[in-house]
Amino acid sequence: MKPDALRGMSKEDILNRFQPNCCVQCNVVLHETTTGNRRTARGCMCSDCYYAELGQEIEEHPIGIPRRRRGS
Ligand SMILES: [Zn+2]
Repeated sequence: MKPDALRGMSKEDILNRFQPNCCVQCNVVLHETTTGNRRTARGCMCSDCYYAELGQEIEEHPIGIPRRRRGS
C-alpha cells in the first residue's frame, strides 16, 4: 500500500484497515486462537460476546429447546 492511500483516512479507518477483525460488540481485536472469531450477521465477534448474545437469544426465543418430560 502506498503511503498516499492513508491520506484522508481517519485514525479509525487506518486501524480498521490493519485490524479488520474487531469484535462488533466489545471492539477487541480478534484472534482465532485467543479471543475466537465468530462471524455473525452483524459482523465479527469474539467468542465471549458471541455466546453471550447467543444465550440471550435463546432466552428470548426459547423455541426448539427440548423440555424435560416428567414421569415415565
Ligand atoms: Zn466481544
